[in-house]
Amino acid sequence: VSTAVVDLGGTYVRSAIVSREGEPLRGRVQQRTDHAQGSDGVIAQIGRVLRESVASVGCGWEDIENLIVSTPGPVTPQTGIVFSPPNMLGWNDVPLRSKLFELLHVPTVLVNDANAAALGEFYFGAGSGTRNMVYITVSTGIGGGVIVEGQLLSGPSGTAGEIGHMTIDRTGPQCKCGNVGCLEAIASGTAIASRFHAAVAGVESHEPAASVDTSRATAADVVRGAYAGDEPARSIFLDAAEAIGVGVVNCLHLFNPDVVVIGGGVSNAGPILFDTIDRIVGARAMPVPRQAAIVMKAVLGDDAGLMGAVAMALGRTPSASTELSGVDPKEPVGHGCADARPE
Ligand SMILES: [Zn+2]
Repeated sequence: VSTAVVDLGGTYVRSAIVSREGEPLRGRVQQRTDHAQGSDGVIAQIGRVLRESVASVGCGWEDIENLIVSTPGPVTPQTGIVFSPPNMLGWNDVPLRSKLFELLHVPTVLVNDANAAALGEFYFGAGSGTRNMVYITVSTGIGGGVIVEGQLLSGPSGTAGEIGHMTIDRTGPQCKCGNVGCLEAIASGTAIASRFHAAVAGVESHEPAASVDTSRATAADVVRGAYAGDEPARSIFLDAAEAIGVGVVNCLHLFNPDVVVIGGGVSNAGPILFDTIDRIVGARAMPVPRQAAIVMKAVLGDDAGLMGAVAMALGRTPSASTELSGVDPKEPVGHGCADARPE
């Protein structure tokens, strides 16, 4: 028996098979997420991707004991319902776990993608060797995961660690969650791009320093403009980076972590992001938690979510194991089907 893992994202569906003895990720398959048929189409695609993974490692579907799915959040692990993730059009309160069970007939555990990425970085990436980690992913939205004494902080509804929706400016811009001034509304990739568009709209004198098409600029374009000395790009990005810095300060004060790991596309912005975070942390954080922590870039890139699911498959998180099969949390829940076969 083996565990199948899936990373469902707005852009890609990825899957792999986890074996206890061999390579943690075998039979990797990746497809562009097919949004054309809504959630039911994507769920069917998950089934196809998984069967391809299973076939490629020489297993049959009957060898798969359980399934762990990293999904765009918010998700309630207890009910397996996914609530309107921003990158998944037409997904409103989708009972993903029960639909996957109907389709695949294996017990399934769902985990919020930011929490999965946090687990991946904690066990296999930037946080490995630490006990207390805060993970912040800054991409289309802002998500997070908090690990306290080696345990993912979940909360009674499984929604802890929504760092993107901490209030940074109580009179700030509208956030999709209904609140105003959330970190996500100020500093996500989407917010950086749209704030840049608003800043340069109608400014006739704006001549972008980098070769940026201002009307279609993405967050990455804003970063390029900022490095090239484009004034609106620089001030918008610095404001976003300062907001992330304030978010990091709040996390240092709340959780006293060993490490704060910044992932997601915006984390590729380099010194203009990390020097700004350091400046804000130096100016605002209390000395004791500040000295205990380092702030660093994530290292697993696009693999973080899948690796978090692997950590759960290997029984690194008690909540996953007990929900899967009631086994001792320290015991891995699966081993390689290929190895188990009498050949
Ligand atoms: Zn919000």
